[in-house]
Amino acid sequence: MRSQQDGAGGLRHLVTLDGLARDALTAILDRAESYRRFPGQPAYEGRELAGVTVANLFFEPSTRTRASFDLASRRLGAHVINLDLQSSSRAKGETMLDTIYTLEAMNTDVFVIRDSEAGLPEFLIDHVAPHVSVISAGEAHLSHPTQGLLDALTIRSHKRRFAGLKVAIVGDIRHSRVARSASQVLSTLGTTDLRLIGPQSLLPPEDEFRGAQRFTRIEDGIAGADVVMMLRIQKERMAQAAALDDAAYFREYGLDAKRLRLASPSVLIMHPGPMNRGVEIESAVADGPRSVIREQVNNGVAVRMAVLAAIAATLTRHRRPL
Ligand code: ASP
Repeated sequence: MRSQQDGAGGLRHLVTLDGLARDALTAILDRAESYRRFPGQPAYEGRELAGVTVANLFFEPSTRTRASFDLASRRLGAHVINLDLQSSSRAKGETMLDTIYTLEAMNTDVFVIRDSEAGLPEFLIDHVAPHVSVISAGEAHLSHPTQGLLDALTIRSHKRRFAGLKVAIVGDIRHSRVARSASQVLSTLGTTDLRLIGPQSLLPPEDEFRGAQRFTRIEDGIAGADVVMMLRIQKERMAQAAALDDAAYFREYGLDAKRLRLASPSVLIMHPGPMNRGVEIESAVADGPRSVIREQVNNGVAVRMAVLAAIAATLTRHRRPL
């Protein structure tokens, strides 16, 4: 893949966290921290994206990610276009490119793309004009870079470190772009004790998540964990989804108050949403004192502002002069 940074190290695109160095990741988290405002405080408003046009192109459903890219762009002064495009309406790559070229002709500078299939963000990077940037808002099961960054920010703001943490990811890891991006950012930032927990059929292929420990019993994997990240079963990515029994899954892998006691007393409970209460997590835990699930949402806006601001700073260097 083409580099996501320009020759001066500025962020040009964000499609994956794989390969981004610790300094680049830390700079985004630091900037996000400066943009973060808590519910009840006035939101940050700035001009970092003044004169920049952002197009949100979502070929897959999204609530949190889409709303937060929209808010993040507007809070920094951008013009925003939101297009919901069903995959079925996309017959060929050319059709897609025509949409992109049409929006480029309207001075779109940044494309935020979500797609259920792999490859679209990279394809676009190869075809957009030199001043135009591409941000992935979720690519198949492969990558969800802004989710990984918001997860890292949430952990950092509570734990102040990554090294030495025991991080457990529970559930449908095989189909999870959230788990992949989280493991990439956490390992670059220094976490070495990563535990993957789920039924054998939902654990990832052996050649992925190198260095992580694998568990098929949740009790074994979450023992002493500092962070427990629960995942949704992504039936939309499964051929045999109907065979899964929600009640049986909750009995074996659901996070309830009893299991939670096995983790560290200061454990953080995370979930990227949307949550299936009573399937992967009990409501009392999702809404309980160890849950940081709503903080993740809050951090998501700040992280997307930081990514957009970093990209805008780079793109001004690549724009055509008046
Ligand atoms: N919202 C996350 C994603 O887009 C997680 C999920 O859908 O379960 O991957």
